[in-house]
Order: sequence, then structure tokens, then C-alpha cells
Amino acid sequence: MAESDAPFEGLLIDGKRIPAASGARSPVMNPATGEVLAHVAQAGVADVDAAVATARSSYEGGAWRRATAGERARVLLRLAELIRANAEELARLESRNVGKPVGESRGEIGMGADCFQYYAGQIPTFGGRTVPVSAPGTGLTFREPVGVCALIVPWNFPFAITTWKVAPALAMGNSVVVKPASATPLTALRLGALALEAGLPPGVLNILPGPGGAVGAALAVHPDVRKISFTGSTEVGSSVMKLAADDIKRVSLELGGKSANIVFADADMAKAGAAVFSVFGNAGQDCCARSRVLVERAAYAEFVERFVERTRAIRIGDPLDDATEIGALISPQHREKVDGYVRKGVEQGARLCIGGKIPRGDLYDRGSFYEPAVFADVTPDMVIAQEEIFGPVVSIMPFDGEDQAIKLANGTIYGLSGSLWTRDIGRALRVVRAVETGVIAVNTSWSVHLEMPFGGVKRSGVGRELGPSALEHYSELKSVFIAAD
Ligand code: NAD
Repeated sequence: MAESDAPFEGLLIDGKRIPAASGARSPVMNPATGEVLAHVAQAGVADVDAAVATARSSYEGGAWRRATAGERARVLLRLAELIRANAEELARLESRNVGKPVGESRGEIGMGADCFQYYAGQIPTFGGRTVPVSAPGTGLTFREPVGVCALIVPWNFPFAITTWKVAPALAMGNSVVVKPASATPLTALRLGALALEAGLPPGVLNILPGPGGAVGAALAVHPDVRKISFTGSTEVGSSVMKLAADDIKRVSLELGGKSANIVFADADMAKAGAAVFSVFGNAGQDCCARSRVLVERAAYAEFVERFVERTRAIRIGDPLDDATEIGALISPQHREKVDGYVRKGVEQGARLCIGGKIPRGDLYDRGSFYEPAVFADVTPDMVIAQEEIFGPVVSIMPFDGEDQAIKLANGTIYGLSGSLWTRDIGRALRVVRAVETGVIAVNTSWSVHLEMPFGGVKRSGVGRELGPSALEHYSELKSVFIAAD
């Protein structure tokens, strides 16, 4: 599509599509082709004020907050069905905007629909309780909504992560302002339209694409925003936390990671060695990417060989082709950053077994593609073993014994996710307890489940998304005591 033919997408405030107050707009790209997908309004501080005022008045008006549990659940269920009815269109849009394989996008859109269905089901179950108190009377607790919530989303799983925040926030009766990542606002804007179609009152869900430094920061300091839920880098998360501190806003942060895949020599090597997508899925742009693989020395050489062979077979290509396993990185600038890490790894003496370069040829020359890089013989002090690369780069390291595995796994500033491969159940239980992460999987790379809490420790964040825990974050406990006479 020629740039001039690309459609215009407005902000969503009070149920209406509108241009930014300043008139600013910005092209949104397809990173696999370099084409402009749309021109999108770029919110500024005036639009933040307007969106927060709308959210606040919708909250105070009470059409959503005071709707019965059944009414709210019905709207969320209708939204889940509308997402399913539009799933293929949403998946293709997500793939074109993020550069990810369409099969992955289908899974993420499906998860988004399931997320609304799950929280619809949680609404009637999640409330306060009666509390036996040492006084003549009755103690009760209520779960009240927080108020206006600002939800700030990254570009790697734009639709799925938006739903992880919007669904529990709406379930509890809050009004929200979503700030999608500048590069990937398109599916969030579609979600806003579908929510209106599902019957959500206008003003309850507002969507503000725009630059993070201006829009995200303005939301973090806005006095009428009661809660911030942020997913993104540790650096920006820390700045959001500081900005939110003055008003004592509720803050939950889902941040970076440098997760470990720990492979013991007794593991099923075929399965463990095939887990290349635990780091290369979404082209490594995954907060849970197992970007470090720690392998017990007795199995190390065999493991490296298997891993390299599976990597060699990976199909890098057009994200809209069903056979593609790895699409494009989000932008040429990001690819340059990833490539810089690969150069650093080589410079510091790690052994680059395969990949780590830009593929050449027609399709590859148009988009920001990158060949997944496997480094072996990495030492824990190397930059590639410590920093979050957020690209298809893995560091494989040997270890001797359980204690060293745990020490290595815990030897970064992060603590988000990870996997452990062993047939020894006792060891599995010891190691999962000792590894400092919010999430860990045994004999699989699958660690995100809608029904279970998700989040990190250390500099990977604070608070938990998904599962019933998310409802705690989008509500306040109120204690009420009623005298007996
Ligand atoms: P980012 O921190 O650059 O941006 C995240 C969001 O914050 C975007 O919407 C951005 O526009 C906004 N933003 C940017 N500057 C801001 C500021 N000064 N104040 C407020 N908001 C601002 O992150 P990204 O590059 O979009 O995403 C990649 C990062 O996200 C990685 O570190 C990854 O690990 C992390 N991530 C974490 C999880 C998780 O659940 N733990 C999930 C996905 C991504």
C-alpha cells in the first residue's frame, strides 16, 4: 500500500474516534515489508487530560461500576465472542504490525478472547467476606474498584497483554485508559471498537496511542489516575514507579527478564534440545525468553549439537505464511541493537555456533529479519549472559551440580520466568523452590496460563497479572463494621 493510501486511525475517547488535539499523527509500519500500515493519531498531554476526565466521569456516573455482576459478565462474554468472530482479521493485523508469524498471532488473539471469558467467570466469585471480630457486631469486607486505571502496554504481545490488563480491570468495575506501544497500536484500537459493540458504555475504555515519554509519563503523574499497570522495560518501569510515587498510586510492573532453561543430564534430551522456541519464539522478543540455557556438563556437548541443528532448520520468512517460524524484528533500529549484542558476545570470547547475521535476499532485504544466534561456552560475567537482549540470541553455559545451576540461574538482576528439565521429581521440587523467579515450568517451556498468576521478582517487576491475583490489583479492600445494636 502506498503511504498516502494508508488509513487514518484516531484516538478512542468517550467512545469516539478523534484526531489528537495537536493534530499530530505518525506512520505505523509493517516491520517485515517496510510498508506503512496506517497513520495513527499521536496523543499529547491535552489528550491525556481529556481521556482521564472521560474515564473519571464514566466511573463516577456509575453505568459500568454499578452494573450488576451478571451485566458486567455478559458484556465481557460478548466481547470474547466478538474477538473470536474477528480472530483471523485481528491475527493478520497483529502479524503485519509486529512482524510475528501468523500462527503465533492466532494463539495470542485466542488467548485474548479466553482472557475476557475467564474474567467474566471470575466476576461473581470474587468478593469480600464476613470476618469474625472481637467486638459486638459484624465485620465485612468489600472489593471496591480502584477508579481510573492507566494501562501501559509494550510492542511484543500488543493484543494479548492489553487483554491481560483490560479484562480484570473492567471485571472489577474500573474505567481505563490504555496506552499502547507507539509502534503497535492497531489491534488495541480494534479492541476498543469491539468493546463498544459488545455494549461497554462509552468512556469506560479509552485508547491513546502516542509517544511513551509524553503520554505514559503524563498518565503516571495525573492526579485522577489511581492505578498504573505497566508492562515494558525495567528502566522505564522504574521511572513510572518514581513518577507514580507522589500520589501513592497503585503500581504493578511487569518488566524485563533473563530467564534460564536449566537442563540436567537425566532430562529427556530430545524434548529439552528441541525447546529452541522458548528463546526464539516471537524472534526472542519475549520477556519470558529463556535466553540462557544452563546444561549439566555430562550432557553439554550433545545438547549444544541438538540445539544448533534445530536452529539450523528454523524457517525465517513472511509472517503471513503459515510455515514461517520466525518473522521480522520490530524495527531496523532494534535489529541493530540485537546485532550489537552479538558482536559483543564474539568480542568477549563466546563461541558463535550458528546465525547472528542479517539474511539477504528479496523478502529479507525489505524487512528487519535476523538469523537466530546460538552462543556456546558463555561465561556468566559476559554481557550476553547478563543483559536482556530481547532478540533471537541464546547463551549456553555448562554447570556442575544442582548448587551451581541454582547460583547461575539466580545470577542476574532479573527474576521472571524459566524452565527446568529433569526426570528426578525431588530435584525438580528443590530447584523450582530455590530459583528466584515469579514463574517456572518443569519439562516444558509453557509457563503462561490465564488461570495462574504471572509476574516477576527482583527487577522483573512487582505484582501479578492473570489468575485471580489480577483482580486483587484492580480492586481495593474496604472493611466495614456494623454494630450489633
Ligand atoms: P518500553 O519500556 O520501551 O515501553 C513500554 C511502554 O511504555 C510503551 O507503551 C511505551 O510507549 C511506554 N513508555 C515509554 N517511555 C515511557 C515513559 N517515560 N513513561 C511511561 N511510559 C513510557 O518497552 P518495550 O520496548 O515496548 O517492550 C520491551 C520490554 O518490555 C522488554 O524489557 C520486555 O522484557 C518487557 N516486557 C515484559 C513483560 C512482562 O510481562 N514481564 C511482557 C512483555 C514485555
